[in-house]
Amino acid sequence: MSTIRILSDRVANQIAAGEVIERPAAVVKELVENSLDAGATRIEVEFRSGGRAYIRVEDNGSGMTRDDALLSLERHATSKIAETADLDQLATFGFRGEALPSIASVARFELQTLSAGEEAGTEILINGGKFVHVRDCGRPAGTRIIVSQLFNSVPARRKFLKSDATESAHIIHCVRLYALSSPQAAFTLIEDGRAIFRSPECHTTAERVAEIFGRQIADAMLPLEAADAGLALRGLISRPGVGRATRHEMITYVNRRPVDSRTLSYALIESYHELVPKGRYPLAFLFLELDPAAVDVNVHPAKREVRFRNESQVRAFVIRAVLDRLRELGATVPAGAPGPGDEAARVGAPAGVAPGPGTPPESRMAAPFPAYRPPLAAMVPAAPAAAGVTVGTAMRNEALRAKAGWRYVGLVHGVYALFETEAGMVLLDRRAAHERVWYERLRAQFAAARAATQRLLLPVPVELDAIMTALLLDRLEFLQGHGFEIVEFGRNFFRVEGVPEWMDPADAEAFLRDVLGALREGRLTAKDLDLARDELARLAALRAVRLPDGTSEAEMQALVAQLFSCRQPLANPTGKPTFIELSHSELARRFQK
Ligand code: ADP
Ligand code: MG
Repeated sequence: MSTIRILSDRVANQIAAGEVIERPAAVVKELVENSLDAGATRIEVEFRSGGRAYIRVEDNGSGMTRDDALLSLERHATSKIAETADLDQLATFGFRGEALPSIASVARFELQTLSAGEEAGTEILINGGKFVHVRDCGRPAGTRIIVSQLFNSVPARRKFLKSDATESAHIIHCVRLYALSSPQAAFTLIEDGRAIFRSPECHTTAERVAEIFGRQIADAMLPLEAADAGLALRGLISRPGVGRATRHEMITYVNRRPVDSRTLSYALIESYHELVPKGRYPLAFLFLELDPAAVDVNVHPAKREVRFRNESQVRAFVIRAVLDRLRELGATVPAGAPGPGDEAARVGAPAGVAPGPGTPPESRMAAPFPAYRPPLAAMVPAAPAAAGVTVGTAMRNEALRAKAGWRYVGLVHGVYALFETEAGMVLLDRRAAHERVWYERLRAQFAAARAATQRLLLPVPVELDAIMTALLLDRLEFLQGHGFEIVEFGRNFFRVEGVPEWMDPADAEAFLRDVLGALREGRLTAKDLDLARDELARLAALRAVRLPDGTSEAEMQALVAQLFSCRQPLANPTGKPTFIELSHSELARRFQK
């Protein structure tokens, strides 16, 4: 026990392999990266049984001479960097020279390669780190690597593998990631003899997305391109209202390398605040390019995480690029620092009202990210500028709509208003649109003045349990300030004597119970008046404001006009879409014209 000895290369490699090669998808990742680094324009990946039985990656890249092929299996043998300084200029995926020896140490590893101009190809076979043979072989230029019986010699690692289905999902995701970032190469992915996708070389990322994620996802995305101060961002982002239950479809790349970056994913989530339903995430395929020296990829064995030298600059840039793109759509998303003036301006108060307690939540959202603001806006006094900006945006929304020329066609099932537009057609969800209009209207009202009350002819008695009673007593003043008149008249008994003007008295009790439910969940917090008002307005718009009966053309057009004078017409207050557009091309495609 006491003797210290140097591990044999084989054992050392097996241990190190655990760090890089944690599962079959890691083998695929390393091999595909090598193929791309070798300049391949055709890459084929095949696997069986979640990759543990068999993985083949074949490319038409540069290939290797026999000497290079032998050398590539030595640890830290790499053709990609020579000195530490090269790490700052990295243009390749690989640089550590660890992948091939690591894989070869934990599997049966067969390499066939031919470098263009050579007479014969080279075949090398290694089994569990033990060299078996090297010999000539015939093959076209490029490289084929077959990895089988993965982790057979390392039971400890094999034990940690999940089901075949899970491992296979990881492999598929991995190949998609690389196929997306390299549309110039044709990719084929085959699982258990069945093609998962075959994508020829594509000219754009959008085409690639359609090829491998499907037309539907591709159609739900908007192209984006932005550059500023040495940073460039391009890719696709989802339209407002489109959301996913997980973050898995927020796919980000830094200098073509797929990465999990908190900075990038938070920037995205931040940008879509209010544009996707709560608890859901936008979709994105985003490529960030920046000076390799400004990012460190060498912080994680699998290089999945990156660190930016200037995190806040990157975050601000991404948020601004995404918001600008969404705003072009007609969405008014948190700009600069909207103050209470913007709400007041629309309900007729003079612009430039002094900032009061009724600041809408956007400015709170902006607070932790001062870099959100375009530098100019940050320098002028917040309230008047914000008022101008928002009124301007509402007008622009309306102008955009007018330009698109929505012509009312009719009402479908009493629910969806159908419009013919220049670009195709639009289906508007009456309810969602109505909710958006009322949400903004009530928020403006709450911020501008004490809400008017209508006294009830017959007060509504409400009996509560002890907890609800305590909650209600605690927030009575807040509710009174927003149009309710509620008096306590006995233990756990209340009487609603007045309700806000906008409410149908018949809804009084149900709405009060909704409000209490929100109180109980901590959503009408006493700590933050803006947040509480925002929540109250949302609740009112969703639960208490009735949809009018009228559905004449004039009424539908009026609804659309009101919707487009909103700051954010594209989604209801919980982020669900207010309308969907079907373009001419989408229609033609569906009808197979
Ligand atoms: P790294 O990619 O970090 O350099 P690897 O162990 O993945 O380390 O690969 C070692 C070397 O083998 C590479 O630097 C490259 O020169 C060569 N190589 C690996 N795969 C291929 C391939 N598919 N085509 C051509 N050369 C390859
Ligand atoms: Mg490599």
